[in-house]
Amino acid sequence: MIVFDLSCANGHRFEGWFASTGDFASQKERRLLTCPQCGCDEVVKAPMAPAVGKKGNQRSEQPAVAQPSAPHARSMSNVPVTPEVEQALVKLAEAQKAALKDSKWVGKSFAEDARAMHYGERDAEAIHGEASLEEAQKLVDEGIDVAPLPFPVAPPKSLN
Ligand SMILES: [Zn+2]
Repeated sequence: MIVFDLSCANGHRFEGWFASTGDFASQKERRLLTCPQCGCDEVVKAPMAPAVGKKGNQRSEQPAVAQPSAPHARSMSNVPVTPEVEQALVKLAEAQKAALKDSKWVGKSFAEDARAMHYGERDAEAIHGEASLEEAQKLVDEGIDVAPLPFPVAPPKSLN
């Protein structure tokens, strides 16, 4: 067995155990390698940490195994939300709603539609919908201009 330091497209680092170097390539090929933190499958071998500094014999303090965390965990805090913050959030939510007024809900075909527009395979229009973190990352990698919305959007009832 050999151990590789791996890192995902979102910069998480973790270790992977493989029978051989070829095993790494084949698992990557079949997209079996995913980041334990975000589930992203754009996994590469992390560059070897340069052995610099006087404490060269000390491994990094980070645990070898990534901490388990929900793949799509939302940011949380126990800081009390003041009325000002709440008001600002409501305004932001309203702003998002206004911005999406002329945008079409495309649900799960968001990634497909955004890509088709980018490559001129269909007419460009404002759309919003659902995409996995992985799909979103791929779109960004292809230079397609998409961004997550600050607030979740419920699918309109007219669809399904
Ligand atoms: Zn990750």
